[in-house]
Amino acid sequence: MESTVPFHRPQITDAEITEVVESLRSGWLTTGPRVKRFEEEFAACVGGRHGVAVNSCTAALHLAVEALGLSRGDAVLVPTMTFAATAEIVRYRGAIPILVDVDPVTLHMDLDDAERKVDLFRRGVLPPAVSRATRIVGILPVHVGGVMMDIGRLRRFAQKHSLWIVEDAAHSFPAAWRPGPGEPWQRCGEETADITCFSFYANKTITTGEGGMAVTGSPELADRMRLMSLHGLSHDAWGRYTGNGSWDYRILAPGYKYNMTDLAGSIGLAQLERAEEMRRAREDRAHRYLEALRDVDEIELPEEDPDRMHAWHLFPLRLRLDALAIDRNEFIAELKGEGIGTSVHWRPLHFHPYYEETYGWTRSDFPAASRVWERLVSLPLFPGMRDEEQDRVVSAVRTICRRSAAVSVPTAAAQ
Ligand SMILES: *Cc1c(COP(=O)(O)O)cnc(C)c1O
Repeated sequence: MESTVPFHRPQITDAEITEVVESLRSGWLTTGPRVKRFEEEFAACVGGRHGVAVNSCTAALHLAVEALGLSRGDAVLVPTMTFAATAEIVRYRGAIPILVDVDPVTLHMDLDDAERKVDLFRRGVLPPAVSRATRIVGILPVHVGGVMMDIGRLRRFAQKHSLWIVEDAAHSFPAAWRPGPGEPWQRCGEETADITCFSFYANKTITTGEGGMAVTGSPELADRMRLMSLHGLSHDAWGRYTGNGSWDYRILAPGYKYNMTDLAGSIGLAQLERAEEMRRAREDRAHRYLEALRDVDEIELPEEDPDRMHAWHLFPLRLRLDALAIDRNEFIAELKGEGIGTSVHWRPLHFHPYYEETYGWTRSDFPAASRVWERLVSLPLFPGMRDEEQDRVVSAVRTICRRSAAVSVPTAAAQ
């Protein structure tokens, strides 16, 4: 077979390698000066006040809801179209995720459905295992693929229902939104939520191998997250990690072991330098896809919004199944046959055994997500993607669509 086009290839340069080697030579491997610098520089980059670096975005989300006091009996609104992490951290606290349907185009949490779910919850008519919760305390929006939600609308919704907001910003660094033309831009993490959580997993927009960061404007929340990220040890204990502490420490709470290593922090520092450059490279690739696939009737492309600065973490296609003689799984198998890596973001949570069986959600609770998920395929998109690689993807998509077009193609209006 010809060489393959991977779904993702991280861009690691000599800068990352040099930083890591220096970190190794310094003798300081775990949390230390490089993590501290990474926290400060990252927070400054997103316009946030406090950054707490940890070993994953999942850890950041867990620390965030802990710091906000999420407890047993509480419920949190979570979009059904997301990764496992967004809902499981609610379960870590013994609380209940109330799943919410999504917009069929942006895949963002549908705030009209969130309103409906809040109303059904108050009337006690959600599935019994969900209605067991006593109150809804927060909302966990996901900026799917790197396009931010309408933060103004999100904040008004949260305010109306007295909810805290923790953003799952695993896809959205660097990203920004504005309410409309001529309005000022606000970066993701620039107090767009109570706490904003980023991911530096290997295939995210910047990577530290594994890693994450919680950003907040609140010194109290930052202090709590920092405390809980390292066994709940008193601040002076951090001195042990930075080299100027004493042997003594106090356990103030039963915390976790979530701290980021300096090795990871050094990769992060070098990646951060190139974050905007890599975003532009992805944007360029995305525009190239949009141009090259514009006239393919069998697919729908991601839409661009002039009021969003897009991180372009993903390039999700929505297949027009009515125009194709094959389904999404066959489409992916054919791309695989052409040596092209793809992914699906995501199988909705209500289609996973745990959430389906524990809470009794059904397909009809989430009509949009249930339908759109059957149409989703994410194409490869990464900053170092070569023209030839992208041309192969484009040509494979075009060929498969041509070969597998349904006999008569209905008009878009018939969808
Ligand atoms: C990747 C991802 C996470 C988890 O990030 P980790 O750093 O791997 O813990 C959380 N939410 C979403 C939406 C993700 O895509």
